[in-house]
Amino acid sequence: MDHFLYRDGILHAEDVALPDIAATVGTPFYCYSTATLTRHYHLFTEALSPLPHLVCFAIKSLSNLAVLKHLGSLGAGMDVVSAGEYLRARAAGVPGERIVFSGVGKTREEMRLALEGGIRQFNVESEPEMRALSEVAVSLGKIAPITIRVNPDVDAKTHEKIATGKSENKFGIPIARAREVYAEAAALPGLRVVGIDVHIGSQLTELAPFEQAYRKVAALTETLRADGHAIERLDLGGGLGIPYTRSNEAPPLPTDYGALIKRTVGHLGCEIEIEPGRLISGNAGILVSRVIYVKHGEGRDFLILDAAMNDLVRPSMYGAHHDIVPVIEPAAGTEAQPYDVVGPVCETGDTFAKGRPLPAMVEGDLVAFRSAGAYGAVMASEYNSRPLIPEVLVKGDHFAVIRARPTFDEILRRDTIPEWL
Ligand SMILES: *Cc1c(COP(=O)(O)O)cnc(C)c1O
Repeated sequence: MDHFLYRDGILHAEDVALPDIAATVGTPFYCYSTATLTRHYHLFTEALSPLPHLVCFAIKSLSNLAVLKHLGSLGAGMDVVSAGEYLRARAAGVPGERIVFSGVGKTREEMRLALEGGIRQFNVESEPEMRALSEVAVSLGKIAPITIRVNPDVDAKTHEKIATGKSENKFGIPIARAREVYAEAAALPGLRVVGIDVHIGSQLTELAPFEQAYRKVAALTETLRADGHAIERLDLGGGLGIPYTRSNEAPPLPTDYGALIKRTVGHLGCEIEIEPGRLISGNAGILVSRVIYVKHGEGRDFLILDAAMNDLVRPSMYGAHHDIVPVIEPAAGTEAQPYDVVGPVCETGDTFAKGRPLPAMVEGDLVAFRSAGAYGAVMASEYNSRPLIPEVLVKGDHFAVIRARPTFDEILRRDTIPEWL
């Protein structure tokens, strides 16, 4: 459920009409709903109660400071994968005790930053990383709390680019080797083992892979405890999928996911951490764009938008589907016609949808890409020297620009021409 609905024939974000935002900030732009973010965060906290838990929002899905500030003030923790994301979480007021540091290639500088600034735990992904972290911690006179990310070798049944829990993926250590790696971790002077971490992929639309993975984690918890390790926390990762179409897709609900967690690991007395990104942010955001031209091609019509693959890369990168809807609601009974919906970038890959049924559109019309809150703005680039598009946050009947569109001057000033040219 989200808060982007037609009212009196005009698509709104909460109580704000999208044409009003377009008139103020120009197009294209991303628009997020605070009410939807709040609702999705609470779905998880309710699903996990009464287990002790921390919902750590995966910043990589949507990293704007205003969004982080909002979620942080609700009590959310944060899952970060880089120094930049760590600094974002801190700048949004989230204390170190609520930040977990994931990622397969943390550098020593990043470890130092988090150890000095405060961190709940590092989710360690390899033995070389574990040794490096111990060294850095010792050099700072600190002890780094860690979980080790295990790779449970389960098939997440999702897109190959976002599956992470098979043995051929680069993530974590093979679960079969967990005992020896935990033994080494316990012997390293700069580390304190606090738990186990697992994350098997993103946009999972079935619960079965989670169930397989979490059962393996439960068994491993018992084994590691018998070996003398204090397993107090289980970080169960993110990955719960969202509906990208209104009709035929019904991914599992957070309540069912919560019930599964209770069933598989609830008896262990561990604090549960989860790292949802997409399910909190995905349907909390849309991208609004304007039709530049309608071009009649041979056997097909092209809707040429002012948004492009550099603004929303998921369709060209993953073949992802986003519902595209007119901002002015078509009258009941309006016939749809197929359009190839494309952007202005000089690549054939700059295609959002082919043969997409839409009501007849004309130059200047506004459209909205639904479910664009996650892996949208964060993956944008300035390819073709197109400025990063603004982000807008709505709450009730007001909105604010939470990242402004850079001017061309600002963009040009980032380059330097050496004086010897
Ligand atoms: C990407 C990622 C997440 C978030 O995944 P979603 O599918 O957005 O929920 C959580 N944890 C880790 C380690 C990740 O890499």
